[in-house]
Amino acid sequence: MENCKGEGSKEQLKVILSQLFYSVLNNTPQQCAELFNFLTCKLAPDYEGAEINLGDEVLMAAISDTYDVPKKFVKEAFHKEGDLGIVSQTFAAQLPVETSTLTFTEVFDQFKHIQQTTGSDSVKRKKLLIQCILKKATPEEALTIVRWLVGNLKTGAGEKTVIGGLSRGLIMFLKPELPIELIEIDSQKIEGLINEAYNIAPNYEEIIRQILANPKNMYQIKEHCSLKVGIPIKPMLSKSIKGFDEILERFQGVQFTAEYKYDGMRGQIHFNRRAEPQVQIYSRNLEKMTTQFPELAEQISKAVKPEIESFIIDTELTAYDKETDKYLPFQILSQRSRKWVTPKDLETKVCICAFDMLYLNGKSLLEIPLCERRGHLHQSFNQCQDFMFARFRDIDANFDVLPYLLDDSLKDNCEGLMLKSLHATYEPSKRSTNWFKFKKDYLEGSSVADSMDLVVVGADWGKGKRKGLFGSFLLACYDVEGQQLQTMTKVATGLTDEDLGVMFGKMKGLIIGKPHQSLLYKDKNVDVWLDPQHVWEVKCADMTLSPIYCAAKNYTGDKGIALRFPRYIRERPDKKINEATSSEQLYDFFRKQQGV
Ligand code: ATP
Repeated sequence: MENCKGEGSKEQLKVILSQLFYSVLNNTPQQCAELFNFLTCKLAPDYEGAEINLGDEVLMAAISDTYDVPKKFVKEAFHKEGDLGIVSQTFAAQLPVETSTLTFTEVFDQFKHIQQTTGSDSVKRKKLLIQCILKKATPEEALTIVRWLVGNLKTGAGEKTVIGGLSRGLIMFLKPELPIELIEIDSQKIEGLINEAYNIAPNYEEIIRQILANPKNMYQIKEHCSLKVGIPIKPMLSKSIKGFDEILERFQGVQFTAEYKYDGMRGQIHFNRRAEPQVQIYSRNLEKMTTQFPELAEQISKAVKPEIESFIIDTELTAYDKETDKYLPFQILSQRSRKWVTPKDLETKVCICAFDMLYLNGKSLLEIPLCERRGHLHQSFNQCQDFMFARFRDIDANFDVLPYLLDDSLKDNCEGLMLKSLHATYEPSKRSTNWFKFKKDYLEGSSVADSMDLVVVGADWGKGKRKGLFGSFLLACYDVEGQQLQTMTKVATGLTDEDLGVMFGKMKGLIIGKPHQSLLYKDKNVDVWLDPQHVWEVKCADMTLSPIYCAAKNYTGDKGIALRFPRYIRERPDKKINEATSSEQLYDFFRKQQGV
């Protein structure tokens, strides 16, 4: 797979992957899903939270002990190569294992074992488990095992390409008589349907099981993957709107509602009165965060009416000050650890601001319009200080109330308004034109309607009193189509000396010898490259085209989009790299700024 580079490489990768899937489709759906998970560096669906989270230090120690090389040499090799997989492969080649005896199942089971290892001496035990498999691995296998443990196989095949491979494999397996040109057409069709099914029930094992169990109905896969309490659904997202003129243009003749845009964390709340526990809470990217908010189960149980058996609601979890009755900024909640919530954390009260209902008493509400879903939501709960319905105002012809509502929302420490078409269904995972966010940024004089969430990919050393720390950071947007990061701007403003100290602590271990393989860049205009792991929210005065950056180049042509006067706002720990602002969104902002 590594040789698949350049034009058409994604297609080549899909063909290779489809053959791999084809070869395991005779086995159980579980094994097929495990192959899928392996290729996307996961152990299980995201919502199960089965993350392996190994630091470089543990891996370096395991490599050092496996090959009997001093840790100092392993560290040096890592700084030179920027890839622990290659380091492991190089040392393994010096004591080569003659023949390969490892099986896929053995390796994958060992990964699960590592993930499940907890307790006081878990780091030591995890290291021993890694050594056990590395000892049996050929140099090539060591490369793959270590890269998997780091979380990047570097095959160039992101999740989208793997789904493409799976779809093609399924068609080859289920329709062996199909001529090659039709295989492509059918694979694309089933790929789209798998994506839709995944947005509602994000579990590939279940999807593969359903397709294999009902091959005749494979094109109705969405109907077989229904919404269930305990399996989070990909949330509906919004587009940005730039000003009142654009609102008039978009919503003329459309019945819509304007809701407060609370500044908290998205919380998808699942409830089943007969389950234990009754309440589960999932983040924007489907991770379980029930333990991060232990106080909410009681709040929900109190607010829900006794006749309600089960529900899924979409909410914003917002910190608030009980004394002043004011909402507090997002950062306060995002600082809570997933696992160790302290009594101090619990002093900050959390209000559940509920704005949508997706499931009620065994029935999906996704296909009914927002006005009806909201009706169900309001009938199912009693409001109290820590469970509120999002404040809203329905707008028909009278747009004049909007500035007042926006003003109220800002006074109440919200970010602005969400404008939603009242007759729209719930569109899982879509950045839909039925939902718009109208943030105060535009009113603050920026010509760009929204802030951006960008990935930190490099840094320059600081000068003067910032010496020894990173002083500025190179940021990138994410191109969904090419599964690629694209450089876009450097930011130094907005970071205090204290912030810089904290960021250095978090990022000094992420220095890599070369730009990350998924990064598109022009010149080496940074002191160090960083492994892309952090997403930051950034604001700017406006956007311009620049020959030294690559953001949205696939849309603009020669030059990339860059930010003028960028300013760091905050970290976005709730966003993954592939959820950063996309090149398509950027181009959209840019065109709006140009008045196109
Ligand atoms: P942002 O960075 O602006 O928060 P985002 O990229 O995380 O946006 P968007 O879909 O662009 O996600 O913005 C909508 C977000 O606003 C939702 O994910 C949700 O967390 C938050 N939000 C706050 N209030 C509401 C509301 N009333 N309706 C919908 N979403 C809301």
